[in-house]
Amino acid sequence: MTLTLPARGSCQCGNVTYQVIEQPLTTICCHCLDCQKLSTSSFSISMILNRTGLEILSGDLKQWDRPADSGNITRCWFCPTCGNRIYHENPEAPEIIRLKPGTLDDTSVLNPQGHVWTCREQPWHQSFNDLPRIDGQPDFAAAIREIQEGGSPF
Ligand SMILES: [Zn+2]
Ligand SMILES: [Zn+2]
Repeated sequence: MTLTLPARGSCQCGNVTYQVIEQPLTTICCHCLDCQKLSTSSFSISMILNRTGLEILSGDLKQWDRPADSGNITRCWFCPTCGNRIYHENPEAPEIIRLKPGTLDDTSVLNPQGHVWTCREQPWHQSFNDLPRIDGQPDFAAAIREIQEGGSPF
């Protein structure tokens, strides 16, 4: 994957802004249970970067630490206003960080190279691409009515 540098990003509320100024080492999808909680989905994406590759441009990040399954500490940096996670690091090896690249302004450039913790991968994740699709916001009230009447909004 080649990023156009600098690649800018921000948290959801916009208080934290940053730019990536070096090419990432790799990008992976992690299916561990912590990443499921973090993403409120079935996996999260990590872009592995040299610390020197990330510049925070605005906003004060807050941190919290949790023990990782690896036995290391994961230090999680987030926007204290909107809660959006920006990056993770191991404080004992801080020269490498894991950016949460869904916060990039242009996520079309993401090109994950592999999956990790697939022993935790949800079986329903495998059939994701086969689910019916609506290419915008569905009419929520109409969809609920359809379901209540025993139908399907799809
Ligand atoms: Zn924010
Ligand atoms: Zn994970």
